[in-house]
Amino acid sequence: MNNDNIVAIATASGYSGIGIVRISGTNLLNIAKQLIRNPLELKPRVASYTDFFDKNNEIIDSGLIIFFKSPNSFTGEDILELNGHGSPIILQMLLNRCVELGCRLAKPGEFSQRAYLNNKIDLLQAESIIDLINADSEAAAKSAIKSLKGTFSHHISTIKEQLINLRMFIEATLDFPEEDIEFIANHKIYEKLKTLKQNIYQLLNITKQGVLLNNGANLVIIGRPNVGKSSLLNALANEDIAIVTDIAGTTRDIIKEKVIINGITFNIIDTAGIRNSTDIVETIGIKKALDAINIAEICLILIDQTEGITNADTEILKNIPFHIPKLFIHNKIDLTNDISKKEVIDESIHIYISAKNNIGLDLLRNTILEVIGFNHTNQNIFIARSRHLIALKSAVNHIDHAFANWSNLEILAEELRYSHSKLGEITGEYTSDELLGEIFSKFCIGK
Ligand code: GDP
Repeated sequence: MNNDNIVAIATASGYSGIGIVRISGTNLLNIAKQLIRNPLELKPRVASYTDFFDKNNEIIDSGLIIFFKSPNSFTGEDILELNGHGSPIILQMLLNRCVELGCRLAKPGEFSQRAYLNNKIDLLQAESIIDLINADSEAAAKSAIKSLKGTFSHHISTIKEQLINLRMFIEATLDFPEEDIEFIANHKIYEKLKTLKQNIYQLLNITKQGVLLNNGANLVIIGRPNVGKSSLLNALANEDIAIVTDIAGTTRDIIKEKVIINGITFNIIDTAGIRNSTDIVETIGIKKALDAINIAEICLILIDQTEGITNADTEILKNIPFHIPKLFIHNKIDLTNDISKKEVIDESIHIYISAKNNIGLDLLRNTILEVIGFNHTNQNIFIARSRHLIALKSAVNHIDHAFANWSNLEILAEELRYSHSKLGEITGEYTSDELLGEIFSKFCIGK
């Protein structure tokens, strides 16, 4: 492993009261001495007020210096933190001085990568650092902290321990072919597998919610002109913080708005433009909208309740693929005799609201969360990523196979082994360099 000295400005660029330059590597006290030209003995983890000097002995800035001695630091190496004033010029001068003293500029995520490589954190925790920095709701930030503190890793390792116990027993038994079903039964393999299966399904459920918190959910509002789509969007947005943003990527021109509902970020997909068209540009736009609908977590079909469900509504419905969960929203009940309610008709959920008068909006919000499978009262959600969910689902599949073949020791052993290695992918035990490179390259510099 490379353990040369790396340096980066760790605080956001721009003008601020304080800015931090961070160095990680070995023998950093030598660098500190040249930087502060001060005989003061730097005690680990104690902030000292000092001047920082350039090579001509001129003061660059005054501030605090903190030394973290290996291995008791974030990266596990020596770390020096220089707290100066938050002027980009000053921070750049401090950075240049560190480079003169032999440091090299850190790559994105290199501090976290070193922490991971030195076993200070596992891959899940490293990923949660960036998720914490990028969190766009309070709930997402709280869940990211849980992952950073190791909650997700702990769940995974509990399941891994159960798996290891089972595997040890089964693989030992395989070496003694005369052992029979009765022997297995006596050792409660079936019961143990059953508990394992329950636990891993529970973990899958929370992980799905953690991914929703991290990635947000795509929500489509569809309906004829004037049924109240914009009014509904505004009503949903007004209660919470509405953030208008561009989403990078191919769907940029069709996603209109981000709305946070009970902690989950919803990317609201505008479908106003969906109609038959021969215009090439419009057709491309429509295709994108339809593609976006295809991956939506939920679709709201808005109906003007003063008119009821019309043929035009039925036509619009044909654009929504069967597999997308749908909610039928009957709007403008202030003009009809309906009350705000939720009912299930032919297995479809219907909700009665008035977007304009804010009637039934809470019922709608709660139902939306219910439909996408998010329990906002659950305090135990930790942040997770699609990569974790994919690996976990695969681990679950192998447990399912193991469970279905529990009396066949060979299949059982193999399926449990696969499941074990899938769990290891999540925490980074069995992870390719390529994947590691990809994960850490998404970090910002200085983290
Ligand atoms: P869109 O074309 O589907 O986006 O519909 P708009 O949101 O622009 O609404 C069309 C019209 O219906 C506007 O005049 C809204 O004020 C009105 N409207 C929307 N929701 C309600 C409602 O709940 N009650 C009443 N009375 N009018 C509504």
